[in-house]
Amino acid sequence: MVKGIRKGLVAISVLVGVLNTLFFAIYVVFVFEPEFSPGVIAFHLFLTMAACIAFSVMAVLLFSRFFVRQLQNITVFINSLVPGKPFEKLKHYRDDEIGELAFSSGKMAERFNESVCQLSSEKGKLELILSRMGDGIFVLDGEGIVRSVNPSAETIFGFSARTATGMSFIEIVRDYELDKPVRRCLKTKKPQQEYLDLGRDGLYLGMVVTPLATEPGCLVLIQDLSRLRKLQLIRKDFIANVSHELRTPVSSIKLLSETLRDGASDDPAVSGRFLNQLVEDAGKLDEIVQGMTTLARIESGEARLVKKRVDIGAVAKNAVSRLQGLADDKKIVLKTLIPPEQMMVMADPAQLEQVFYNIIHNGLKFTSSGGEVVTRIYCDHHQLLASISDTGIGIEPADLERIFERFYKADKAHSGQGSGLGLAISRHIIEAHGGRIWAEPTPEGHGSRISFSLPV
Ligand code: ADP
Repeated sequence: MVKGIRKGLVAISVLVGVLNTLFFAIYVVFVFEPEFSPGVIAFHLFLTMAACIAFSVMAVLLFSRFFVRQLQNITVFINSLVPGKPFEKLKHYRDDEIGELAFSSGKMAERFNESVCQLSSEKGKLELILSRMGDGIFVLDGEGIVRSVNPSAETIFGFSARTATGMSFIEIVRDYELDKPVRRCLKTKKPQQEYLDLGRDGLYLGMVVTPLATEPGCLVLIQDLSRLRKLQLIRKDFIANVSHELRTPVSSIKLLSETLRDGASDDPAVSGRFLNQLVEDAGKLDEIVQGMTTLARIESGEARLVKKRVDIGAVAKNAVSRLQGLADDKKIVLKTLIPPEQMMVMADPAQLEQVFYNIIHNGLKFTSSGGEVVTRIYCDHHQLLASISDTGIGIEPADLERIFERFYKADKAHSGQGSGLGLAISRHIIEAHGGRIWAEPTPEGHGSRISFSLPV
């Protein structure tokens, strides 16, 4: 540009020189009518023209040097601007048009930098929000190609953001049902909302697709609602189970008391039997209510642990001796494999004994006579492990995790026995001690084994 200006000025000065000479020639020839021959006149005119041109070109070059340098400085300044980086201000210029240009360039650079800083700070905040969001986010262009994703989306669908950018949405999610709302949104430019049960790994997703306001494309927000739905199902099961558990003793009590009221009480033998049944049913109700109260107290943190250093072997033996009578009645062998030395652990002894009692009691309940229930305690990798295995009916693989839920009863045939709360209470107690509890089939293949760990 600068070179162009110089060239232009030189051309103009040459033109001015030629025109000057031309006017001078006309003036000399027509006003003075000189006596010299045309050859001499032409020679002198040529000399005049050359001097004129040389003089004006030199004047122009000298003069242009001054402001061309200033323009060059402004160009260098603008080229040196790096978005977001500080810059050296332009030196003060004279109070003319170039000075104004320099001043405006400086102002523009300041505003430009402010906007860039503001934009990058907004971008940083947005990226932080997106990276911390639990919901998966995809930004797609008008063709459904992924332009950006956040880490939660990677976790939900198990891909890497590096490979995902540039791929189509369907290639990543590999599910036609998920792609449908995206296609609809891109086509109609209207927001879409869907809840999808993908079936695989119990994945249940909420999906909101919103068209982008400024360009073709859409924003896809995916919420993993699998856990929430699982909790909803557990709650539904819980209510169904509570009503189921309460219904049997309550209807039995109602029926028995009505029959007694309607005349059965006159027969001492019948009334005696009915009263026994009433006591048994009331006991069952009491067991359920007690269990629920204990669980509620543990869950709310009301039942505080009174921890002290206790010998876990002694605690287990207490529970075993309380159940020895039941084992003898059922002709089941109750064994303990506990090392003779003391194994100390920080625990609430009463609560820990309750856990042993619940699990061994279950072992006795679900094992028929002739079987055995073995309680083992051992130390492994800085933790104490206790396992109670039996030779009973065993637990289906699908129920192994669920038996620790409130009221969950895996064994339908024995659904009349117990309240379904014992293991839920045990799990809460063990977790409150910082341990873990789990169920598995015995290595021998029959019966089941329930184990728990406690930090030493
Ligand atoms: P319950 O009072 O019904 O025994 P629990 O919470 O103690 O309640 O156990 C829940 C369910 O887990 C039981 O109903 C039973 O189906 C199953 N279960 C627990 N322990 C055993 C075991 N040792 N063998 C087989 N099934 C078991």
